[in-house]
Amino acid sequence: MKVIAVSGGVISGLGKGITTSSLGRILKARGIPVTIVKIDPYLNVDAGTMNPYQHGEVFVLDDGTEADLDLGNYERFLGQSLVGTHNLTTGKIYRAVIEKERHGDYLGNTVQIIPHVTGEIKRTIREVAQAAGAEVVLVEVGGTVGDIESMPFLEALRELSYELGEGHMAFVHTTLVPVVGPVGEAKTKPTQHSVRELRAIGIRPNLIIARGPAPLAPDIKTKISLFCDVPPEAVISVPDQAVIYEVPLVLEAQGVGPLLARLLNLPDRPPDHTAWKEFLATYRRGDGAVEIAIVGKYTELRDAYLSHTEAFHHVQGHLGKEIRLQWYDSEDIPKSPALLARLARADGILVPGGFGARGVEGKIRAIQIARTTGIPYLGICYGFQMQAVEFARNVLGLDRANTTEVDAGTPDPVVCLLEQQRTLNDLGGTMRLGAQRVVLTPGSKVAEVYGRTEIWERHRHRYEINPDYFDRLRQHGLAITGMSVDGRVEALEVPAHPFFLGVQFHPEFLSRPESPHPLFAGLVRAALARQEVATPVAAPPPVA
Ligand code: GLN
Repeated sequence: MKVIAVSGGVISGLGKGITTSSLGRILKARGIPVTIVKIDPYLNVDAGTMNPYQHGEVFVLDDGTEADLDLGNYERFLGQSLVGTHNLTTGKIYRAVIEKERHGDYLGNTVQIIPHVTGEIKRTIREVAQAAGAEVVLVEVGGTVGDIESMPFLEALRELSYELGEGHMAFVHTTLVPVVGPVGEAKTKPTQHSVRELRAIGIRPNLIIARGPAPLAPDIKTKISLFCDVPPEAVISVPDQAVIYEVPLVLEAQGVGPLLARLLNLPDRPPDHTAWKEFLATYRRGDGAVEIAIVGKYTELRDAYLSHTEAFHHVQGHLGKEIRLQWYDSEDIPKSPALLARLARADGILVPGGFGARGVEGKIRAIQIARTTGIPYLGICYGFQMQAVEFARNVLGLDRANTTEVDAGTPDPVVCLLEQQRTLNDLGGTMRLGAQRVVLTPGSKVAEVYGRTEIWERHRHRYEINPDYFDRLRQHGLAITGMSVDGRVEALEVPAHPFFLGVQFHPEFLSRPESPHPLFAGLVRAALARQEVATPVAAPPPVA
Protein backbone atom coordinates (compact mmCIF):
# COMPACT_ATOMS: atom_id res chain seq x y z
CA MET A 1 0.00 0.00 0.00
CA LYS A 2 1.17 3.52 -0.84
CA VAL A 3 -0.35 6.59 0.76
CA ILE A 4 -0.63 10.24 -0.16
CA ALA A 5 -1.77 12.35 2.78
CA VAL A 6 -3.25 15.75 1.97
CA SER A 7 -3.38 18.35 4.72
CA GLY A 8 -4.48 21.96 4.68
CA GLY A 9 -2.95 25.10 6.10
CA VAL A 10 -3.88 28.71 6.87
CA ILE A 11 -7.62 28.53 6.24
CA SER A 12 -10.29 26.02 5.30
CA GLY A 13 -12.16 26.21 2.02
CA LEU A 14 -9.02 26.17 -0.14
CA GLY A 15 -10.31 23.41 -2.37
CA LYS A 16 -8.36 20.65 -0.66
CA GLY A 17 -11.03 18.20 -1.80
CA ILE A 18 -10.56 19.23 -5.43
CA THR A 19 -6.78 19.00 -5.04
CA THR A 20 -7.03 15.51 -3.58
CA SER A 21 -9.50 14.42 -6.27
CA SER A 22 -7.24 15.84 -8.98
CA LEU A 23 -4.18 14.04 -7.60
CA GLY A 24 -6.24 10.84 -7.72
CA ARG A 25 -7.27 11.60 -11.27
CA ILE A 26 -3.71 12.05 -12.55
CA LEU A 27 -2.63 8.74 -11.01
CA LYS A 28 -5.67 6.99 -12.44
CA ALA A 29 -4.84 8.46 -15.86
CA ARG A 30 -1.56 6.51 -15.57
CA GLY A 31 -3.42 3.26 -15.02
CA ILE A 32 -2.68 3.14 -11.27
CA PRO A 33 -5.59 1.83 -9.15
CA VAL A 34 -6.38 4.56 -6.59
CA THR A 35 -8.94 5.34 -3.97
CA ILE A 36 -9.57 8.23 -1.59
CA VAL A 37 -10.45 8.46 2.09
CA LYS A 38 -11.76 11.63 3.75
CA ILE A 39 -11.11 12.34 7.39
CA ASP A 40 -13.61 14.64 9.07
CA PRO A 41 -12.39 15.46 12.54
CA TYR A 42 -15.83 16.16 14.04
CA LEU A 43 -17.63 14.08 16.65
CA ASN A 44 -20.70 13.44 14.52
CA VAL A 45 -20.68 9.84 13.34
CA ASP A 46 -21.71 11.02 9.88
CA ALA A 47 -22.79 14.20 8.10
CA GLY A 48 -26.47 13.21 8.10
CA THR A 49 -27.43 15.08 11.25
CA MET A 50 -25.93 18.43 10.22
CA ASN A 51 -27.78 21.03 8.22
CA PRO A 52 -26.30 22.21 4.91
CA TYR A 53 -25.18 25.52 6.46
CA GLN A 54 -22.63 23.60 8.55
CA HIS A 55 -20.60 21.80 5.91
CA GLY A 56 -22.60 22.11 2.70
CA GLU A 57 -24.61 19.35 1.09
CA VAL A 58 -24.85 15.88 2.59
CA PHE A 59 -23.63 13.46 -0.09
CA VAL A 60 -25.28 10.03 -0.14
CA LEU A 61 -23.37 6.92 -1.19
CA ASP A 62 -24.75 3.69 -2.69
CA ASP A 63 -24.57 1.96 0.68
CA GLY A 64 -26.67 4.70 2.27
CA THR A 65 -23.87 6.51 4.08
CA GLU A 66 -24.57 10.20 4.55
CA ALA A 67 -21.14 11.58 3.81
CA ASP A 68 -19.17 14.78 3.51
CA LEU A 69 -19.56 16.51 0.15
CA ASP A 70 -15.94 15.81 -0.74
CA LEU A 71 -16.91 12.18 -1.30
CA GLY A 72 -18.95 13.54 -4.20
CA ASN A 73 -15.87 15.26 -5.62
CA TYR A 74 -13.89 12.01 -5.32
CA GLU A 75 -16.58 10.01 -7.11
CA ARG A 76 -16.84 12.58 -9.89
CA PHE A 77 -13.09 12.93 -10.47
CA LEU A 78 -12.30 9.24 -10.19
CA GLY A 79 -15.44 7.98 -11.91
CA GLN A 80 -15.75 5.42 -9.10
CA SER A 81 -18.45 4.77 -6.52
CA LEU A 82 -17.27 4.72 -2.92
CA VAL A 83 -18.63 3.24 0.30
CA GLY A 84 -19.08 4.61 3.81
CA THR A 85 -15.73 3.42 5.16
CA HIS A 86 -14.13 6.07 2.91
CA ASN A 87 -15.43 8.81 5.20
CA LEU A 88 -13.71 8.57 8.56
CA THR A 89 -14.98 10.80 11.35
CA THR A 90 -13.85 11.25 14.93
CA GLY A 91 -17.32 9.99 15.88
CA LYS A 92 -16.84 6.70 14.01
CA ILE A 93 -13.31 6.14 15.32
CA TYR A 94 -14.20 6.84 18.95
CA ARG A 95 -17.31 4.71 18.70
CA ALA A 96 -15.24 1.78 17.42
CA VAL A 97 -12.61 2.23 20.14
CA ILE A 98 -15.20 2.49 22.92
CA GLU A 99 -17.08 -0.56 21.64
CA LYS A 100 -13.82 -2.54 21.64
CA GLU A 101 -13.03 -1.35 25.14
CA ARG A 102 -16.45 -2.53 26.40
CA HIS A 103 -15.98 -5.81 24.59
CA GLY A 104 -12.71 -6.35 26.44
CA ASP A 105 -10.42 -6.15 23.42
CA TYR A 106 -7.92 -3.99 25.29
CA LEU A 107 -8.31 -5.88 28.59
CA GLY A 108 -5.79 -4.83 31.20
CA ASN A 109 -4.76 -1.65 29.42
CA THR A 110 -5.42 2.04 29.79
CA VAL A 111 -7.12 3.06 26.55
CA GLN A 112 -5.48 6.18 25.11
CA ILE A 113 -5.40 8.43 22.05
CA ILE A 114 -1.93 7.01 21.28
CA PRO A 115 -1.79 4.09 20.53
CA HIS A 116 -5.46 3.03 20.56
CA VAL A 117 -7.18 5.83 18.68
CA THR A 118 -4.27 6.28 16.26
CA GLY A 119 -4.15 2.49 15.87
CA GLU A 120 -7.82 2.40 14.94
CA ILE A 121 -7.26 5.16 12.36
CA LYS A 122 -4.33 3.32 10.75
CA ARG A 123 -6.20 0.02 10.77
CA THR A 124 -9.19 1.61 9.03
CA ILE A 125 -7.05 3.25 6.32
CA ARG A 126 -5.28 -0.05 5.60
CA GLU A 127 -8.59 -1.91 5.47
CA VAL A 128 -10.17 0.58 3.09
CA ALA A 129 -7.17 0.44 0.72
CA GLN A 130 -7.30 -3.34 0.72
CA ALA A 131 -11.04 -3.59 0.18
CA ALA A 132 -10.82 -1.12 -2.72
CA GLY A 133 -7.93 -3.00 -4.30
CA ALA A 134 -6.04 0.28 -4.53
CA GLU A 135 -2.33 0.60 -5.02
CA VAL A 136 -2.40 4.19 -3.82
CA VAL A 137 -4.77 5.55 -1.22
CA LEU A 138 -5.13 9.31 -0.89
CA VAL A 139 -6.10 10.47 2.58
CA GLU A 140 -7.49 13.98 2.88
CA VAL A 141 -7.43 15.42 6.39
CA GLY A 142 -10.31 17.85 6.89
CA GLY A 143 -9.77 21.06 8.80
CA THR A 144 -6.55 23.03 9.14
CA VAL A 145 -3.21 21.95 10.57
CA GLY A 146 -3.04 23.24 14.14
CA ASP A 147 -6.66 22.41 14.99
CA ILE A 148 -6.93 20.32 18.15
CA GLU A 149 -9.47 18.05 16.43
CA SER A 150 -7.17 16.84 13.67
CA MET A 151 -4.15 16.05 15.88
CA PRO A 152 -4.83 12.30 16.38
CA PHE A 153 -5.32 11.87 12.63
CA LEU A 154 -2.09 13.67 11.69
CA GLU A 155 -0.25 11.68 14.35
CA ALA A 156 -1.69 8.45 12.90
CA LEU A 157 -0.48 9.45 9.43
CA ARG A 158 2.97 10.25 10.78
CA GLU A 159 3.12 6.81 12.40
CA LEU A 160 1.87 5.22 9.20
CA SER A 161 4.62 6.80 7.11
CA TYR A 162 7.19 5.38 9.53
CA GLU A 163 5.61 1.94 9.37
CA LEU A 164 5.31 1.90 5.57
CA GLY A 165 8.91 3.00 5.11
CA GLU A 166 10.77 5.08 2.57
CA GLY A 167 9.15 5.55 -0.85
CA HIS A 168 5.67 4.52 0.33
CA MET A 169 4.14 7.73 1.55
CA ALA A 170 4.01 11.33 0.41
CA PHE A 171 2.70 14.37 2.27
CA VAL A 172 0.97 17.08 0.28
CA HIS A 173 0.22 20.35 2.03
CA THR A 174 -2.33 22.75 0.56
CA THR A 175 -1.95 26.35 1.65
CA LEU A 176 -3.05 29.85 0.84
CA VAL A 177 -0.74 32.42 -0.70
CA PRO A 178 -2.77 35.61 -0.31
CA VAL A 179 -2.24 38.59 -2.54
CA VAL A 180 -2.43 41.81 -0.53
CA GLY A 181 -1.66 45.50 -0.57
CA PRO A 182 -2.01 48.18 -3.23
CA VAL A 183 0.57 46.54 -5.54
CA GLY A 184 -0.86 43.04 -5.18
CA GLU A 185 2.00 41.34 -3.40
CA ALA A 186 1.88 37.55 -2.92
CA LYS A 187 2.62 36.69 0.72
CA THR A 188 4.37 33.47 1.74
CA LYS A 189 4.40 33.97 5.53
CA PRO A 190 1.11 32.12 6.22
CA THR A 191 2.51 29.14 4.27
CA GLN A 192 5.77 29.25 6.21
CA HIS A 193 3.86 29.25 9.51
CA SER A 194 1.58 26.38 8.61
CA VAL A 195 4.49 24.27 7.34
CA ARG A 196 6.32 24.97 10.60
CA GLU A 197 3.21 23.78 12.45
CA LEU A 198 3.24 20.58 10.42
CA ARG A 199 6.94 19.98 11.05
CA ALA A 200 6.42 20.46 14.79
CA ILE A 201 4.28 17.32 14.73
CA GLY A 202 6.88 15.40 12.77
CA ILE A 203 5.55 15.73 9.23
CA ARG A 204 7.67 17.16 6.45
CA PRO A 205 5.67 17.97 3.32
CA ASN A 206 6.95 16.63 0.00
CA LEU A 207 4.69 18.82 -2.10
CA ILE A 208 3.18 22.22 -1.45
CA ILE A 209 0.07 23.20 -3.34
CA ALA A 210 -0.18 26.96 -3.22
CA ARG A 211 -3.70 28.29 -3.74
CA GLY A 212 -4.43 31.86 -4.62
CA PRO A 213 -6.12 34.11 -7.12
CA ALA A 214 -3.25 34.15 -9.66
CA PRO A 215 -0.30 31.92 -10.70
CA LEU A 216 2.74 32.15 -8.40
CA ALA A 217 5.70 34.13 -9.73
CA PRO A 218 8.99 32.15 -9.95
CA ASP A 219 10.59 34.15 -7.10
CA ILE A 220 7.67 33.31 -4.79
CA LYS A 221 8.06 29.62 -5.60
CA THR A 222 11.77 29.89 -4.79
CA LYS A 223 11.02 31.62 -1.53
CA ILE A 224 8.50 28.95 -0.44
CA SER A 225 10.98 26.26 -1.47
CA LEU A 226 13.74 27.78 0.65
CA PHE A 227 11.67 28.49 3.76
CA CYS A 228 9.65 25.29 3.68
CA ASP A 229 12.41 22.88 2.72
CA VAL A 230 10.87 21.48 -0.46
CA PRO A 231 12.51 21.49 -3.92
CA PRO A 232 11.30 24.36 -6.15
CA GLU A 233 9.64 21.92 -8.58
CA ALA A 234 7.55 20.62 -5.67
CA VAL A 235 5.95 24.02 -5.09
CA ILE A 236 2.83 23.83 -7.23
CA SER A 237 0.72 26.82 -8.08
CA VAL A 238 -3.01 26.24 -8.39
CA PRO A 239 -4.75 29.53 -9.13
CA ASP A 240 -8.56 29.74 -9.09
CA GLN A 241 -10.12 28.05 -12.13
CA ALA A 242 -13.35 28.84 -13.97
CA VAL A 243 -14.28 25.17 -13.70
CA ILE A 244 -12.80 22.74 -11.17
CA TYR A 245 -12.25 20.01 -13.78
CA GLU A 246 -9.25 22.02 -15.08
CA VAL A 247 -7.26 21.31 -11.91
CA PRO A 248 -5.84 17.87 -12.90
CA LEU A 249 -4.43 19.47 -16.05
CA VAL A 250 -3.03 22.42 -14.06
CA LEU A 251 -1.19 19.88 -11.88
CA GLU A 252 0.00 17.88 -14.91
CA ALA A 253 1.41 21.02 -16.55
CA GLN A 254 3.69 21.49 -13.52
CA GLY A 255 4.98 17.94 -13.53
CA VAL A 256 3.08 16.62 -10.52
CA GLY A 257 2.55 13.19 -12.13
CA PRO A 258 6.26 12.31 -12.57
CA LEU A 259 6.99 13.89 -9.18
CA LEU A 260 4.52 11.60 -7.39
CA ALA A 261 5.80 8.63 -9.36
CA ARG A 262 9.32 9.40 -8.11
CA LEU A 263 8.23 9.94 -4.51
CA LEU A 264 6.26 6.71 -4.39
CA ASN A 265 8.37 4.51 -6.67
CA LEU A 266 5.54 4.14 -9.15
CA PRO A 267 5.94 3.45 -12.87
CA ASP A 268 5.97 6.79 -14.69
CA ARG A 269 3.71 6.00 -17.61
CA PRO A 270 2.36 8.81 -19.80
CA PRO A 271 -1.13 9.84 -18.68
CA ASP A 272 -4.25 9.43 -20.80
CA HIS A 273 -6.53 12.44 -20.37
CA THR A 274 -8.22 12.18 -23.78
CA ALA A 275 -11.85 11.97 -22.63
CA TRP A 276 -11.26 14.53 -19.86
CA LYS A 277 -9.81 17.03 -22.33
CA GLU A 278 -12.67 16.49 -24.76
CA PHE A 279 -15.12 17.15 -21.95
CA LEU A 280 -13.34 20.42 -21.09
CA ALA A 281 -13.14 21.51 -24.73
CA THR A 282 -16.90 21.00 -25.18
CA TYR A 283 -17.56 22.72 -21.85
CA ARG A 284 -15.59 25.81 -22.89
CA ARG A 285 -17.32 25.96 -26.27
CA GLY A 286 -20.61 26.83 -24.52
CA ASP A 287 -22.30 28.47 -27.52
CA GLY A 288 -25.74 29.85 -26.75
CA ALA A 289 -27.02 29.99 -23.20
CA VAL A 290 -29.90 28.32 -21.46
CA GLU A 291 -31.23 29.51 -18.15
CA ILE A 292 -32.24 27.11 -15.39
CA ALA A 293 -33.92 28.44 -12.26
CA ILE A 294 -33.16 26.57 -9.04
CA VAL A 295 -35.71 27.24 -6.35
CA GLY A 296 -34.49 26.22 -2.90
CA LYS A 297 -33.99 27.55 0.59
CA TYR A 298 -30.23 27.25 1.11
CA THR A 299 -29.39 29.49 -1.85
CA GLU A 300 -26.96 31.77 0.05
CA LEU A 301 -24.64 28.81 0.40
CA ARG A 302 -23.95 27.26 -3.00
CA ASP A 303 -22.19 24.28 -1.42
CA ALA A 304 -25.61 23.21 -0.15
CA TYR A 305 -26.49 22.28 -3.75
CA LEU A 306 -22.99 21.33 -4.92
CA SER A 307 -23.94 18.11 -6.71
CA HIS A 308 -26.69 19.94 -8.63
CA THR A 309 -24.27 22.59 -9.86
CA GLU A 310 -21.79 19.90 -10.86
CA ALA A 311 -24.46 17.87 -12.65
CA PHE A 312 -25.21 20.92 -14.83
CA HIS A 313 -21.47 21.38 -15.49
CA HIS A 314 -21.40 17.77 -16.70
CA VAL A 315 -24.28 18.42 -19.08
CA GLN A 316 -22.56 21.57 -20.39
CA GLY A 317 -19.43 19.50 -21.05
CA HIS A 318 -21.47 17.20 -23.27
CA LEU A 319 -23.97 19.48 -24.98
CA GLY A 320 -21.60 22.41 -25.44
CA LYS A 321 -24.30 24.87 -24.36
CA GLU A 322 -23.66 27.36 -21.60
CA ILE A 323 -25.97 26.62 -18.69
CA ARG A 324 -26.71 29.64 -16.50
CA LEU A 325 -28.08 28.77 -13.10
CA GLN A 326 -30.34 31.36 -11.50
CA TRP A 327 -30.81 30.83 -7.79
CA TYR A 328 -34.18 31.72 -6.25
CA ASP A 329 -34.78 31.73 -2.51
CA SER A 330 -38.13 29.96 -2.23
CA GLU A 331 -39.08 32.08 0.79
CA ASP A 332 -38.96 35.24 -1.33
CA ILE A 333 -41.09 33.94 -4.19
CA PRO A 334 -44.59 34.33 -2.72
CA LYS A 335 -43.72 37.88 -1.58
CA SER A 336 -42.41 39.21 -4.86
CA PRO A 337 -44.44 39.53 -8.08
CA ALA A 338 -41.24 40.68 -9.86
CA LEU A 339 -39.49 37.49 -8.88
CA LEU A 340 -42.45 35.43 -10.03
CA ALA A 341 -42.47 37.21 -13.36
CA ARG A 342 -38.78 36.56 -13.78
CA LEU A 343 -39.20 32.90 -12.87
CA ALA A 344 -41.88 32.59 -15.53
CA ARG A 345 -39.25 33.54 -18.14
CA ALA A 346 -36.79 30.78 -17.15
CA ASP A 347 -36.04 28.11 -19.75
CA GLY A 348 -36.26 25.40 -17.12
CA ILE A 349 -37.01 25.08 -13.40
CA LEU A 350 -35.60 22.70 -10.81
CA VAL A 351 -36.78 22.30 -7.22
CA PRO A 352 -34.19 20.31 -5.26
CA GLY A 353 -34.50 18.28 -2.04
CA GLY A 354 -35.16 19.86 1.32
CA PHE A 355 -36.64 19.51 4.76
CA GLY A 356 -39.18 21.33 6.91
CA ALA A 357 -41.78 24.04 6.41
CA ARG A 358 -39.68 27.09 5.58
CA GLY A 359 -39.94 28.11 1.94
CA VAL A 360 -42.37 25.37 0.96
CA GLU A 361 -45.10 27.67 -0.39
CA GLY A 362 -42.62 29.31 -2.78
CA LYS A 363 -41.62 25.92 -4.13
CA ILE A 364 -45.28 25.08 -4.72
CA ARG A 365 -45.77 28.38 -6.59
CA ALA A 366 -42.74 27.67 -8.78
CA ILE A 367 -44.09 24.21 -9.60
CA GLN A 368 -47.49 25.66 -10.47
CA ILE A 369 -45.85 28.11 -12.89
CA ALA A 370 -43.92 25.31 -14.57
CA ARG A 371 -46.94 23.03 -14.83
CA THR A 372 -49.36 25.64 -16.14
CA THR A 373 -47.02 27.42 -18.58
CA GLY A 374 -45.15 24.46 -20.04
CA ILE A 375 -41.73 25.38 -18.64
CA PRO A 376 -39.63 22.18 -18.36
CA TYR A 377 -39.46 21.11 -14.73
CA LEU A 378 -37.45 18.62 -12.73
CA GLY A 379 -38.47 17.93 -9.13
CA ILE A 380 -36.04 16.13 -6.87
CA CYS A 381 -37.12 14.51 -3.60
CA TYR A 382 -38.85 17.39 -1.76
CA GLY A 383 -39.31 19.03 -5.17
CA PHE A 384 -41.09 15.84 -6.29
CA GLN A 385 -43.23 15.53 -3.15
CA MET A 386 -44.28 19.17 -3.61
CA GLN A 387 -45.35 18.35 -7.18
CA ALA A 388 -47.93 15.99 -5.73
CA VAL A 389 -49.04 18.62 -3.20
CA GLU A 390 -49.34 21.32 -5.89
CA PHE A 391 -51.34 18.97 -8.11
CA ALA A 392 -53.65 17.95 -5.28
CA ARG A 393 -54.34 21.57 -4.37
CA ASN A 394 -54.67 23.14 -7.81
CA VAL A 395 -56.01 20.30 -9.95
CA LEU A 396 -57.87 18.06 -7.49
CA GLY A 397 -59.09 21.12 -5.61
CA LEU A 398 -57.89 19.89 -2.21
CA ASP A 399 -57.01 23.36 -0.89
CA ARG A 400 -55.29 22.25 2.26
CA ALA A 401 -53.39 19.31 0.82
CA ASN A 402 -49.90 19.08 2.24
CA THR A 403 -47.11 16.86 3.44
CA THR A 404 -47.44 15.88 7.09
CA GLU A 405 -43.86 17.08 7.47
CA VAL A 406 -45.23 20.65 7.17
CA ASP A 407 -48.80 20.26 8.45
CA ALA A 408 -49.38 17.28 10.72
CA GLY A 409 -53.13 18.01 10.82
CA THR A 410 -53.78 18.43 7.09
CA PRO A 411 -57.11 16.92 5.95
CA ASP A 412 -55.30 15.72 2.80
CA PRO A 413 -51.92 14.18 3.62
CA VAL A 414 -50.85 13.64 0.02
CA VAL A 415 -47.34 13.10 1.31
CA CYS A 416 -46.93 11.18 4.55
CA LEU A 417 -44.34 9.43 6.69
CA LEU A 418 -43.03 6.10 5.37
CA GLU A 419 -44.48 3.18 7.32
CA GLN A 420 -41.11 2.06 8.71
CA GLN A 421 -40.34 5.60 9.93
CA ARG A 422 -43.29 5.75 12.32
CA THR A 423 -41.71 3.91 15.23
CA LEU A 424 -38.17 5.32 15.06
CA ASN A 425 -36.44 6.98 17.98
CA ASP A 426 -33.00 7.74 16.53
CA LEU A 427 -32.58 10.33 13.80
CA GLY A 428 -29.00 9.48 12.76
CA GLY A 429 -28.76 7.29 9.65
CA THR A 430 -32.41 6.21 9.78
CA MET A 431 -33.94 7.73 6.65
CA ARG A 432 -34.67 5.55 3.63
CA LEU A 433 -31.12 5.77 2.33
CA GLY A 434 -28.88 4.73 -0.50
CA ALA A 435 -29.24 2.89 -3.78
CA GLN A 436 -32.64 1.33 -4.46
CA ARG A 437 -34.01 -0.35 -7.55
CA VAL A 438 -36.69 1.55 -9.46
CA VAL A 439 -38.85 0.20 -12.25
CA LEU A 440 -39.99 2.72 -14.86
CA THR A 441 -43.16 2.52 -16.98
CA PRO A 442 -42.35 1.61 -20.61
CA GLY A 443 -43.28 4.45 -22.94
CA SER A 444 -43.15 7.12 -20.22
CA LYS A 445 -41.07 10.29 -20.55
CA VAL A 446 -38.80 9.22 -17.70
CA ALA A 447 -38.13 5.83 -19.35
CA GLU A 448 -37.43 7.63 -22.62
CA VAL A 449 -34.95 9.98 -20.92
CA TYR A 450 -33.08 7.06 -19.29
CA GLY A 451 -33.36 4.83 -22.34
CA ARG A 452 -34.24 1.89 -20.08
CA THR A 453 -36.88 0.77 -17.61
CA GLU A 454 -34.80 -0.41 -14.68
CA ILE A 455 -32.52 1.93 -12.75
CA TRP A 456 -30.69 2.15 -9.43
CA GLU A 457 -30.71 5.54 -7.74
CA ARG A 458 -29.68 6.95 -4.36
CA HIS A 459 -32.30 7.97 -1.81
CA ARG A 460 -32.55 10.07 1.34
CA HIS A 461 -36.04 10.64 2.68
CA ARG A 462 -38.57 9.87 5.42
CA TYR A 463 -41.79 10.75 3.59
CA GLU A 464 -43.51 9.38 0.51
CA ILE A 465 -46.54 9.93 -1.74
CA ASN A 466 -49.53 8.59 0.16
CA PRO A 467 -50.95 5.47 -1.60
CA ASP A 468 -54.51 6.66 -0.72
CA TYR A 469 -54.15 9.38 -3.37
CA PHE A 470 -52.64 7.32 -6.22
CA ASP A 471 -55.95 6.82 -8.04
CA ARG A 472 -57.16 10.42 -7.79
CA LEU A 473 -53.81 11.83 -8.95
CA ARG A 474 -53.78 9.44 -11.90
CA GLN A 475 -57.38 10.15 -12.89
CA HIS A 476 -56.60 13.85 -13.13
CA GLY A 477 -53.51 13.48 -15.31
CA LEU A 478 -50.54 13.02 -13.02
CA ALA A 479 -48.97 9.75 -14.13
CA ILE A 480 -47.05 7.52 -11.75
CA THR A 481 -44.20 6.30 -13.95
CA GLY A 482 -41.70 4.85 -11.52
CA MET A 483 -42.15 2.45 -8.61
CA SER A 484 -39.81 0.81 -6.15
CA VAL A 485 -40.02 -2.95 -5.82
CA ASP A 486 -41.85 -2.50 -2.50
CA GLY A 487 -44.55 -0.29 -3.99
CA ARG A 488 -43.32 3.27 -3.28
CA VAL A 489 -43.85 5.98 -5.88
CA GLU A 490 -40.48 6.92 -7.34
CA ALA A 491 -41.40 9.02 -10.38
CA LEU A 492 -44.25 11.26 -11.49
CA GLU A 493 -44.97 13.12 -14.69
CA VAL A 494 -47.68 14.97 -16.60
CA PRO A 495 -47.73 13.28 -20.02
CA ALA A 496 -49.47 16.27 -21.64
CA HIS A 497 -46.60 18.61 -20.59
CA PRO A 498 -43.34 18.85 -22.61
CA PHE A 499 -41.22 17.92 -19.56
CA PHE A 500 -42.72 17.86 -16.08
CA LEU A 501 -40.87 15.15 -14.17
CA GLY A 502 -40.39 14.44 -10.51
CA VAL A 503 -38.33 11.78 -8.81
CA GLN A 504 -38.20 10.63 -5.18
CA PHE A 505 -34.46 9.91 -5.43
CA HIS A 506 -31.38 12.09 -5.93
CA PRO A 507 -30.01 11.84 -9.49
CA GLU A 508 -27.45 14.59 -8.76
CA PHE A 509 -25.34 12.12 -6.75
CA LEU A 510 -24.70 9.90 -9.77
CA SER A 511 -23.80 12.50 -12.37
CA ARG A 512 -20.16 12.42 -13.50
CA PRO A 513 -18.15 14.50 -15.99
CA GLU A 514 -17.76 11.43 -18.16
CA SER A 515 -21.43 10.41 -17.85
CA PRO A 516 -23.82 13.30 -17.17
CA HIS A 517 -27.08 12.23 -15.57
CA PRO A 518 -29.90 11.62 -18.09
CA LEU A 519 -32.46 13.57 -16.02
CA PHE A 520 -30.29 16.71 -15.90
CA ALA A 521 -29.46 16.32 -19.59
CA GLY A 522 -33.17 15.76 -20.27
CA LEU A 523 -34.16 18.96 -18.46
CA VAL A 524 -31.57 21.01 -20.35
CA ARG A 525 -32.55 19.48 -23.71
CA ALA A 526 -36.21 20.27 -23.02
CA ALA A 527 -35.24 23.82 -22.00
CA LEU A 528 -33.30 24.25 -25.25
CA ALA A 529 -36.25 22.92 -27.25
CA ARG A 530 -38.54 25.42 -25.55
CA GLN A 531 -36.12 28.24 -26.33
CA GLU A 532 -36.33 27.39 -30.02
CA VAL A 533 -40.07 27.88 -30.14
CA ALA A 534 -40.41 30.73 -27.61
CA THR A 535 -39.71 34.31 -28.63
CA PRO A 536 -36.34 35.36 -27.26
CA VAL A 537 -36.48 37.73 -24.28
CA ALA A 538 -33.66 39.84 -22.89
CA ALA A 539 -31.67 38.01 -20.22
CA PRO A 540 -32.97 39.05 -16.78
CA PRO A 541 -30.41 40.39 -14.30
CA PRO A 542 -29.01 37.80 -11.87
CA VAL A 543 -31.19 37.17 -8.84
CA ALA A 544 -28.59 36.68 -6.14
N1 GLN B 1 -38.17 16.13 3.59
C1 GLN B 1 -38.51 15.14 2.65
C2 GLN B 1 -38.47 13.74 3.26
O1 GLN B 1 -37.87 13.52 4.28
C3 GLN B 1 -37.62 15.19 1.44
C4 GLN B 1 -36.20 14.82 1.72
C5 GLN B 1 -35.27 15.29 0.68
O2 GLN B 1 -35.59 16.15 -0.14
N2 GLN B 1 -34.05 14.80 0.73
O3 GLN B 1 -39.03 12.82 2.71
